[in-house]
Amino acid sequence: MIFDDLGLSTDLLRAVNDQGYSEPTPVQQQAIPLILQGKDLMATAQTGTGKTAGFVLPMLQRLSEGRTKGRRPVRALVLTPTRELAAQVSDSVSTYGKYMLLRQAAVFGGVRIQPQIQKLRRGVDVLVATPGRLLDHVSQQTVDLSAVEMVVLDEADRMLDMGFIHDIHKILALMPDARQTVMFSATFSNQIRRLADEFLNQPAVVEVASRNTAAENVTQLVHPVDQHRKRELLSFIIGDGNWQQVLVFTRTKHGADRLARQLAQDGLRTTAIHGNKSQAARTRALSDFKRGSVRVLVATDVAARGLDIDTLPHVVNFELPNVPEDYVHRIGRTGRAGNEGDAISLVSADEYYMLKNIERLLNRDITKAVVPGYEPETPMPTRSSRPRRSGGRRGGNGGGSYGGGGGSGQGRFKGNRSNSAPPTRRSASRSEGTDGRRPASAGSARPQKRSQTV
Ligand code: AMP
Repeated sequence: MIFDDLGLSTDLLRAVNDQGYSEPTPVQQQAIPLILQGKDLMATAQTGTGKTAGFVLPMLQRLSEGRTKGRRPVRALVLTPTRELAAQVSDSVSTYGKYMLLRQAAVFGGVRIQPQIQKLRRGVDVLVATPGRLLDHVSQQTVDLSAVEMVVLDEADRMLDMGFIHDIHKILALMPDARQTVMFSATFSNQIRRLADEFLNQPAVVEVASRNTAAENVTQLVHPVDQHRKRELLSFIIGDGNWQQVLVFTRTKHGADRLARQLAQDGLRTTAIHGNKSQAARTRALSDFKRGSVRVLVATDVAARGLDIDTLPHVVNFELPNVPEDYVHRIGRTGRAGNEGDAISLVSADEYYMLKNIERLLNRDITKAVVPGYEPETPMPTRSSRPRRSGGRRGGNGGGSYGGGGGSGQGRFKGNRSNSAPPTRRSASRSEGTDGRRPASAGSARPQKRSQTV
C-alpha cells in the first residue's frame, strides 16, 4: 500500500513525501481511513509504530475539510501523558500540517503559562496538551473546549498509570458529546477497555501489536551483575562497543542523576532527563542527545515515554522496571522503523524475580550472559552463559565481544563456554519471586544467598 491510497489530501501527501516515508506503517494503513470516516477508534499501538502520523494526518484532513472562518475555537484536542510527548506530537502537527493554514498550540506544565495564554487567545485549531496544564487553562478560562470536534487520547494507558483518570473525565465533560474520540494505547488492559466503553461510541478497533510483544528486530540480553558493579560494567560496555548513542533507564530520578554524574566522571558525555528537571533542561538534553553531543541519556520511565528518536541503537536497563509492561515500552525505544536494536539489562540478584515477571509477560526467556570479570556474587538461578575470563577480553569493534547478534540460547561472547547447566529457574526463583518484598532503592539491596546456582 502507498500513502496515495489512504484518501489523504495533496497537502498532506506532500508533507509526508517530504519526510521520505515510502509507505504507511500498519497502524497508519488501518487507522487513517477509519478516522477519515469519522469513526471513533480504539487503537493499540506502541511508540515507534508510526502511531502519531496515524492520527495526526487524518485529524488535519478532517479539520481542513470543515474549516470555519473568523473566530478559531479549538476544534481538535490531543491529550498526552507527558510534556515531551506533547511537544513531539505538536512537532508532528507542524511537520504534517506545513502546507495547511491550520494553527496549533501545545500547552504543558514546567514552562510559563503566559505565552500559552497569548497563543490561545489568538485562536488555534489544534491543541496538544497534558491534562494538568490544560485544566489550569480551563480554570483560568483561557481555553474553550466547547467546539471540539475531535479528541485524541494518546498513550491512554500511561495517562491512567499516571493517575490522570479524573482529569480526563473533567476534560471530556467540557466537550460536546457529538465529537469524534480516538484513543491510542500501548496496552489493551481491562482498565483501558473500561475507558473505551465509557468514552467511545461504537469504536472501530485497530490492534497492531499485542501487549506483550517486543520488536522482533531488537536483540535482548541480560547481564547478571552485582548491584555495586553495574555502573562500572555499563561504562565498560559503552566503551567496548564504542556506542555513541545509548538510552539508559533507571527507576528513580535520584538514581538517574547519580548515574549520570558517575558516567560523566568516567569520561562519557552524559545527561539525565526526568520529571524534576525543568522543561527547558529536558528539551536541551534531548536535543543534545539527538545531535550527538551527549552520548548517554539516563532517563526514568515517565520522562522517556514518547521520546521521539528515530534510530536509537542501544537501550540499557540499568535497573529493571517494577512493572513488567514498562520493560516492553523501554525496549521499544530501540529497533524502530525496521532498524536493528540492542536492549541490554543489567540485573542484580534482588531483581531476579522482576526478570521472571518480565519473561512471563514476554512468554520467553531472555538470553543471559555474564560478562567476564563481572561475575555476580550470587549467580542467577536460571540458564546462563559463564564465559571464562580471558586475558585479551576486549574486542573494541563490531567483531569483538559486543558486536554479535546474540539471540540464541547463549551469550554473545567469543570463547563462551556453552550453557552446560540445566535451566533451574522455576524452583530457584520461587523463594523470592512473589513475596513482594523489594528494597526501596536498588542501591541498598544485598544479594541473597541461593541454594541453586548455574
Ligand atoms: P511514532 O510511533 O509516532 O512515535 O513514530 C515513530 C517514528 O516513525 C517517527 O520518528 C516517525 O517520523 C516515523 N514514521 C512515521 N510514519 C512513518 C512511515 N510511514 N515510514 C517511515 N517512518 C515513519
